[in-house]
Amino acid sequence: MNLELTDLTLMQAIEALRSGEISSRELTRACLERIEKLEPSLHAFLHLAAESALAQADEADRQQVTGDGQHKPLLGIPIAVKDVLAVEGLPCTAGSKILEGFVPPFTATAVKRLQEAGAIAIGKTNTDEFAMGSSTENSAYGMTHNPWDLTRVPGGSSGGSAAAVAARMVPAALGTDTGGSVRQPAAFCGVTGLKPTYGRVSRYGLVAYGSSLDVAGALGHTAEDVALLFSIMAGRDALDATTQDVAVPTIDLVGATLAVASGRGLAPPLHGLRIGVPREYFVRGIQVEVEAGVRQAVSVLEGLGAEVHEISLPHSEYALPVYYIISPAEASANLARYDGIRYGSRIQAEAMWDIFYRTRGRKFGAEVERRIMLGTYALSAGYYDAYYGQAQKVRTLIKRDFEQAFERVDVIAAPVAPTTAFPIGAHRDDPLAMYLEDVFTLPANLAGVPGLAFPVGFDGAGLPVGMQLMGQHFHEDVLLRAAHAYQQVTDWHMRAPSL
Ligand code: GLN
Repeated sequence: MNLELTDLTLMQAIEALRSGEISSRELTRACLERIEKLEPSLHAFLHLAAESALAQADEADRQQVTGDGQHKPLLGIPIAVKDVLAVEGLPCTAGSKILEGFVPPFTATAVKRLQEAGAIAIGKTNTDEFAMGSSTENSAYGMTHNPWDLTRVPGGSSGGSAAAVAARMVPAALGTDTGGSVRQPAAFCGVTGLKPTYGRVSRYGLVAYGSSLDVAGALGHTAEDVALLFSIMAGRDALDATTQDVAVPTIDLVGATLAVASGRGLAPPLHGLRIGVPREYFVRGIQVEVEAGVRQAVSVLEGLGAEVHEISLPHSEYALPVYYIISPAEASANLARYDGIRYGSRIQAEAMWDIFYRTRGRKFGAEVERRIMLGTYALSAGYYDAYYGQAQKVRTLIKRDFEQAFERVDVIAAPVAPTTAFPIGAHRDDPLAMYLEDVFTLPANLAGVPGLAFPVGFDGAGLPVGMQLMGQHFHEDVLLRAAHAYQQVTDWHMRAPSL
């Protein structure tokens, strides 16, 4: 094979492994070498598991030869895992000093299912502390750089995973999305990223941020790659009571071609697909090239048979204030467990309370502290109704906007973020400006609906432009099918940064 092994998509890598053209050891080693070469400039990883990854690769190669791994679709495929998802035996910091040294004795269900399908966790990727942020600048272990322009952020909070995929360090990676953390970094780094329906993928082993919003998703080069990972991760899990027992589209690998066993299928054309373009998502302040890129992509989808309608999601403007009340409120409760006793690092003191005060006082970063305070305030007796209660009511209105829209259309097309990747430091001292980066991704989380981001072009500075498709609850396959059709007739998703 004349191609760099690290340039293979997930599907191509699977095919090459199955045919015996390459071994998992070769692929895993190639990834490790690429990581070693690029880490000094990107810092996408917080932890590498080189030795165990190579050992697992050898085992995968053995199973490939003996046929023991025949039923494992991801046999021998290295993937990267955002450091908020637990992998037994590997450190899990969530980008925070308070979890320094914590090695979970269990594996997140989403990761476990991929491992059972043969995938190899090659390392843990960088993230904003407790997934709070849109740039990875809030990581306590240093930021990640955007592979397309090292002076820019990769987005966040799954910035390490998006950068690792974009830089061809791994064929695919896992992220989490509470308010846009899979989609926005995917857009900033020019990769494809899926935020599944809330309750579609187990949150067991996912470090909780906003429990009514959190979901694990996949990042890869193509909609097909992401579809495959998603189909394996998704489904009911007894360890997470919010997961739903809704049939997951099963994706069969038939040689190199992807066939979908479920009704709706992944194959083009998009004849009859109704796409809604919400007017509230094309507002003042959006970068001209982002709007142009999205509108251009919508006409490509139209050319593939889709019908395009203008729609309205009237409560969109409230998503930002609602999210920044609900998510800190949930975070303030979730983060109460980091007390210096049970997990990670501790600042020692005589009295128990002093351990709590000192550890929490010094080990949380500024953004996390801010959100704990905001959330505690919003939940406090005197302000609960005015803030948290009110936010929950408006959340219902946002959800209804989507329900009404989905009576008329099958998917909603929108920008992922108002701009392409911004310069490092641009919003560092202005949390509100940073929060504004999330305006277009938050509504899907508040409504619980799936969202898929994929590249649709570049701006004048050579930075990727992304767009997102949002769909009805549990209709991820509709989004994936549309993006797959788009990727059959365009090649933005195959462009690589020169590094
Ligand atoms: N950027 C958003 C925030 O800061 C979303 C983060 C996320 O999805 N984890 O909360």
